[in-house]
Amino acid sequence: MADISQVFDVLVVGAGPAGMAAAWAAASAGASVGVVDDNPSPGGQIWRSEAAHPSTPEAVEWYRRISRVKIAFIHGAKVVDHPAEGMLLAETWDGVSEIRYRKLILATGARERFLPFPGWTLPNVMGAGGLQALAKSGLPVEGKRVVVAGSGPLLLAVAAYLKKHGAQVLFIAEQAPGQRLAWFAAALLGRPAKAMQAIRLKRELAGIPYLTSCWPVAAEGEGKLERVTLRRGKKTWRVACDYLACGFHLAPNTELAELLGCALENGCVRVDQWQQTSREAVYCAGEPTGIGGLELSLTEGQIAGFAATERKDRATALFGERESNQRFARRLDRTFALREELKSLAAPDTIVCRCEDVPLARLRGYDSWRAAKLETRCGMGPCQGRVSGAATEILFGWRAESVGPPVFPASGEALAME
Ligand SMILES: Cc1cc2nc3c(=O)[nH]c(=O)nc-3n(C[C@H](O)[C@H](O)[C@H](O)COP(=O)(O)OP(=O)(O)OC[C@H]3O[C@@H](n4cnc5c(N)ncnc54)[C@H](O)[C@@H]3O)c2cc1C
Repeated sequence: MADISQVFDVLVVGAGPAGMAAAWAAASAGASVGVVDDNPSPGGQIWRSEAAHPSTPEAVEWYRRISRVKIAFIHGAKVVDHPAEGMLLAETWDGVSEIRYRKLILATGARERFLPFPGWTLPNVMGAGGLQALAKSGLPVEGKRVVVAGSGPLLLAVAAYLKKHGAQVLFIAEQAPGQRLAWFAAALLGRPAKAMQAIRLKRELAGIPYLTSCWPVAAEGEGKLERVTLRRGKKTWRVACDYLACGFHLAPNTELAELLGCALENGCVRVDQWQQTSREAVYCAGEPTGIGGLELSLTEGQIAGFAATERKDRATALFGERESNQRFARRLDRTFALREELKSLAAPDTIVCRCEDVPLARLRGYDSWRAAKLETRCGMGPCQGRVSGAATEILFGWRAESVGPPVFPASGEALAME
C-alpha cells in the first residue's frame, strides 16, 4: 500500500473516471496526491478490472495519463468517517488508517437505483450493473437466459456485455416511452462520439428486442428466479429466464459529502464553477453532482483537480466542455425520468428494506424517512439505506435528513477510532 503517513496536498476519494481525472490534474499541477478507493485497482464502475487491459481508446488514454504522474493509490480502502478536520478514516483488510489532506476531492460515483416489485428479492434477480460486475469477476453467463429491465443507458451496455460473453439476452425492457427515446437518439446526432457509441451498441445488440414503455411487474420461482412478468401497455406476459438484470437508472453517492457537511441540491452535491462544495477545501466531481455519464465525470474531475491546485486557468479552459456535457446530462434526466406507474409496483407484503425485512405495508402512514426509520428500522441494516432510501424517495418522496458515521458498515476497530 502507498505511504499514507504524509499529509496529501490533495486527497481524492474514488478512483473512477472522475477521481482518475482529478488526481491526474492535481498531480500534473505539482501537488502531492493520494487516491483512496475500495476496489483493487482504478477504473470505477465503467472500467472495473480494466487496469491491465483497457478496452476503449478513452480508457487507454486515462490509464496512460495516471501512469505518467506521481499518485499514491490506496486501494481496497473504504472511507467510513471523517473524525477530524483534514482527516478521513479508511478501513482496509489489514485494519483502519487515518489519511490526512489539505484539499479533498470527492469522486464517489453512483449506484444503481432499485424499485421494489413482487419477487425482486429472489436469488438471481440482480442489479443490471451488479450482474455485469459479477460476470466481469468470473460468473459464467454463457447460455444463461437473461431479461434486462428497468431504465437508463446502462441497460444497453450491460446487455451488450452479457451477449458478448455468451448469455442469451431475451429482452431489454425500458420503462421510458419510445417518443422520449427517439428525441434522445436524435439529440445524439449533435454529439459524434456518443452517436458512434450508440451505433456500435445497436450493432452489438442486433436481434435483441428493445421494448420501450415496458417494465417488470413480478419475479417468481421456487427458491430462485424462474420467470419474470413484464408489462407493456395493457399487455402482461411471462418470460422464463435464469437472471433478471434490473436497475432503474442511477442514484448519486452523496453520503460522504453529507457527512462532511456539504450542501445538497435536488439530491445531488451542490458545487460552484470550480466544483467546490459549500465546504471550503472540499470539491466534488462526477456522478455525486448529478448523473451525467463518463465524459462529464472526466471533465468535472479535471476541473476539480486544477481548481484545487490553483490552476484556475486550466480549469476555466474546460468550462465549455463541461457545459456541453451538462446539457447531455439534463437530457439524460428527462429521457429516463421514472413514470408514475412504477410507484405502485410493490404489493403490501413486498419487502422494501431487505436488510431489515420491512414490507411496504409497514411503511405506509409515516410522513418522513426519519419517522419510518425509527419505528420500523427501515434503512438501518448493512446497506445503511443505500437501497431502501433511494426506493422510498421515489415511492414516498422521503429524503434522508442527516447522515451519520460510518457511511459504510465498519468493523469494531473503525468504530472505536471515530
Ligand atoms: C453498477 C454500475 C455499472 C456501470 N457500468 C457502466 C458501463 O458498463 N458502461 C458505462 O458507460 N457506464 C457505466 N456506468 C455508469 C458510469 O459509472 C458513469 O457514467 C461514470 O463513468 C461514473 O464515473 P465516476 O468516476 O463519477 O464514478 P464511479 O465510476 O462510480 O467511481 C466511483 C468510485 O468511488 C469508489 N467509492 C465510493 N465511495 C467510496 C468510499 N467511501 N471509500 C472508498 N471508495 C469509494 C467506488 O467504489 C468507485 O470505484 C455504471 C454505473 C454503475 C453504478
